[in-house]
Amino acid sequence: MKVGVLALQGAAGAHARALAEIGCETVLVRTAAALDAIDGLVLPGGESTVQLAMLRRLGMLEALARLHRRGAPVLATCAGLILIARRVTGPEQASLGWLDVEVERNAYGTQLDSFIGASDDGAHDLVFIRAPRIRRAAAGVEVLARHRGEPVLIRKDNVVAATFHPELGADRTIHELAFRSSLVAVAARVELEATAAHGGRETAHAVRSVHTGLVARL
Ligand code: GLN
Repeated sequence: MKVGVLALQGAAGAHARALAEIGCETVLVRTAAALDAIDGLVLPGGESTVQLAMLRRLGMLEALARLHRRGAPVLATCAGLILIARRVTGPEQASLGWLDVEVERNAYGTQLDSFIGASDDGAHDLVFIRAPRIRRAAAGVEVLARHRGEPVLIRKDNVVAATFHPELGADRTIHELAFRSSLVAVAARVELEATAAHGGRETAHAVRSVHTGLVARL
């Protein structure tokens, strides 16, 4: 699976290395055409205001919307989460609205208040860098990890989002969650739909071998 990392501004390099470690082909994305040519996308941390301005200036917003509409898996971290939230405060800012959550920017304080913590279940180290806080999450948004009771890792369908920086440090489970598990799900769906549509045993056999090939490459 070819996963792009938006590389206009911010922490793209460490994400690209993390993706390579879990076996994804990785490209740095700086154009609308590149967005149309990938199977999944990382929206990295950085400065969401700058990233939004650059996405506008480079005419990439339409291609981003297309990517989301075709159900591509997305991992959005920190500024990336701010870009895709339904509502942004602290201060208010335009956003893509892919996830029905409200986030407050810089909600732990200034750069000096950046810190490393652990998720409440102890499963993840959490690197917070001028991080946002999720102030509201709609009922359908799944909370995968919390810090002191507050959601910090969430998922809705193919979109996984974190208020922290999972690419810093050695834990790759969040990249795996965003991309490897969704590829298995997509492959399983392709098989089911093709079998249902064509019914024939030959089709089912052909799709199964594609599926097996895909899973083997994970
Ligand atoms: N404070 C940044 C913003 O508001 C986010 C920080 C980060 O991505 N580490 O966009």
